[in-house]
Amino acid sequence: MGEVMVDVRGVHKSFGDNEVLRGVDLRVGAGEVVVVLGPSGSGKSTLLRTINHLEKADRGLVGIDGDLIGYRRRGDKLYELRERDVLRQRAHVGFVFQNFNLFPHLTVLENIVEAPVATRRKPLVEARAQARRLLDRVGLADKESAYPRHLSGGQQQRVAIARALALEPKVLLFDEPTSALDPELVGEVLDVIRDLARSGTTMIVVTHEIGFARDVADTVVFMDAGVVVEQGPPAQVLDEPQHPRTRAFLSKVL
Ligand code: ADP
Ligand code: MG
Repeated sequence: MGEVMVDVRGVHKSFGDNEVLRGVDLRVGAGEVVVVLGPSGSGKSTLLRTINHLEKADRGLVGIDGDLIGYRRRGDKLYELRERDVLRQRAHVGFVFQNFNLFPHLTVLENIVEAPVATRRKPLVEARAQARRLLDRVGLADKESAYPRHLSGGQQQRVAIARALALEPKVLLFDEPTSALDPELVGEVLDVIRDLARSGTTMIVVTHEIGFARDVADTVVFMDAGVVVEQGPPAQVLDEPQHPRTRAFLSKVL
């Protein structure tokens, strides 16, 4: 692995007495695509949310491109960052949700320019030009004036990807980006993600699309019960899983 872009070390997270992450370690190199598989409830979403500090780990640390998320290191002490500084860090981590989460009262173009203008102070003219380039990239150049409710789920998810890219993140996190879509719309979204992978975008993708994992992932990570059970190249994890829990999971989804 070259430069480490995402560095998750010993992360623990509990909700009440439910320990959801039990010491997760994960390293993602610059330009690497990691696909995370695992049964429902295994902690995949919580892991992604911890990586961009939507959830604060109880123990352990997350580094993005060498910066600790949520903390400043001074000497050998760690100080919690103020919310404002956390927001600034979070802008380096793009997040694409299962349910798109577009602003319903804003047009496609407005959805994409909102964050760069509001949080990055990008001039509106520049933000619009960039948004149009991104819409072209996700195949939606003709939809800039549409409202989300007039788009298919697949189109909405492609807008959500364009919106995430508008902040020029160092890493993109996808949480089951195709799970809410009708089957015939899954392909168009996976194609966009595949295109991003080819162009060297660092990504962590939680998905149940095993074929996609096989094609696109550099590394497949299998999680169960809050730990990484095994990880490796797709051919290894998907075709020759070493752990019985990985085998049991794959026999259900393949
Ligand atoms: P996955 O994405 O793998 O399905 P999650 O990370 O969503 O798993 O959830 C793991 C466990 O954590 C589940 O038992 C879930 O109920 C619990 N959980 C997740 N988020 C919260 C929360 N905000 N409050 C309480 N429990 C939560
Ligand atoms: Mg989830």
